[in-house]
Amino acid sequence: MAKKKLPKVLALLDEDMCTGCEACLVVCPVDCISTIPGPRHESSFQVCTIDLPRCIGCTLCHQVCPWDCITMLPTDQFLQNENTAKQLE
Ligand code: SF4
Ligand code: SF4
Repeated sequence: MAKKKLPKVLALLDEDMCTGCEACLVVCPVDCISTIPGPRHESSFQVCTIDLPRCIGCTLCHQVCPWDCITMLPTDQFLQNENTAKQLE
């Protein structure tokens, strides 16, 4: 089967900076953003996370995040990282 064509850019969300405001989650056209328990906070605190293989690189989440937690990076950079490359296989 042919490999899935990847977008030119993908979104990287800094979970340590995320306040869990969910502004990004609301605008994502493919619903690939969800909430998870925050990494450094009390257990009730939620942050957002991106399901990378489903991201289409539309940049909307990056545009709406009030805290600049989401960076758009070239897909090649994700493919050079062992962990994210596995997700995109
Ligand atoms: S870039 Fe677009 S598709 Fe990707 S996570 Fe952000 S809003 Fe969703
Ligand atoms: S918009 Fe920014 S601060 Fe708000 S949940 Fe998304 S990544 Fe976190």
